[in-house]
Amino acid sequence: MKPMPATRAMPVIRGRVEAAASLAPFTWFRVGGPAEWLARPADAEDLLTLLAALDPAMELTVLGAASNLIIRDGGVPGVVLRLPARGFGAVTVEADGVIAGAAALDATVAEHAAAAALAGLEFLSGIPGSIGGAVAMNAGAYGREIVDVLDWAEVATPTGLVRLDAAGLGLAYRHASLPPRGVVTRARLRAAPGDATAIAARMAEIRDAREATQPVRARTGGSTFRNPEGHKAWALIDAAGCRGLMRGAAQVSEKHCNFLLNTGGATAADLEALGEEVRARVLAHSGVDLHWEIKRIGQRGSATA
Ligand SMILES: Cc1cc2nc3c(=O)[nH]c(=O)nc-3n(C[C@H](O)[C@H](O)[C@H](O)COP(=O)(O)OP(=O)(O)OC[C@H]3O[C@@H](n4cnc5c(N)ncnc54)[C@H](O)[C@@H]3O)c2cc1C
Repeated sequence: MKPMPATRAMPVIRGRVEAAASLAPFTWFRVGGPAEWLARPADAEDLLTLLAALDPAMELTVLGAASNLIIRDGGVPGVVLRLPARGFGAVTVEADGVIAGAAALDATVAEHAAAAALAGLEFLSGIPGSIGGAVAMNAGAYGREIVDVLDWAEVATPTGLVRLDAAGLGLAYRHASLPPRGVVTRARLRAAPGDATAIAARMAEIRDAREATQPVRARTGGSTFRNPEGHKAWALIDAAGCRGLMRGAAQVSEKHCNFLLNTGGATAADLEALGEEVRARVLAHSGVDLHWEIKRIGQRGSATA
């Protein structure tokens, strides 16, 4: 294991900065070691100051709602950014769309659109991340993805703010190609005037479908593996006999076997090793090599904060 470097210098910003900050409480899995630095810029201007002044040798990692992340037990070197709702959480409804700050939760954006009888963003109501994470992951559900509704996203970079459309962001299945050290600050999503009752009904339908099929109240990270071309990852995992499989306190969900669970006291290493075991069993059983959808970041090792 590479040791966590001694804390290095960090630019001064108006927002909050904390050394050796615990990250596990921010994550859906509730696992992972500390950040060398955790920075919460006050607003987009403060973020731009930080990015411009940051030593290019210092690693930079962005956390959204951490609903699609495993933070490894040895922690994350460099600067971890968390955009606070105050400064990055505003949601503005327009006649044919919504402008949402990166820290706004997807479900909140869906609710704002529904309250204004705007249709097309209902799919966001079932995704537990932030708008920044949704753009970075091209999040999608029930036949729609961010690429289908994105007008533009503003991205802070060390040289300033850029506004990019879906093509400029290279949105693909659960992927965006952000500029180097790019941080999404807000996005405009298209929507169309619709029938408020039908929109509310669609959102309720999505919520019910989630509750029925996914462990939505568990310590999880959403879909663990991408669906390989022509396959459903969960079906391959099930066929390989992995439903309910455990490693330490990490478990393959009985309810939806493309979800991993922290049943209490699991480490990031348990979760990652379980995922690798699932990959190996699926490869041996069906010849398909699964690829992680969950991002795994940081260093291996034991948690120190
Ligand atoms: C119960 C459950 C159900 C889920 N269902 C779905 C689903 O149906 N469809 C789906 O697509 N996903 C689903 N997910 C996964 C997850 O919610 C999405 O991928 C979501 O878009 C991630 O957003 P986040 O804010 O949590 O990002 P994080 O998990 O914090 O980060 C994910 C990636 O985005 C990057 N990122 C985050 N914010 C920014 C930013 N502001 N600028 C630049 N990069 C950023 C991070 O660096 C990281 O690489 C589910 C997860 C759970 C726990």
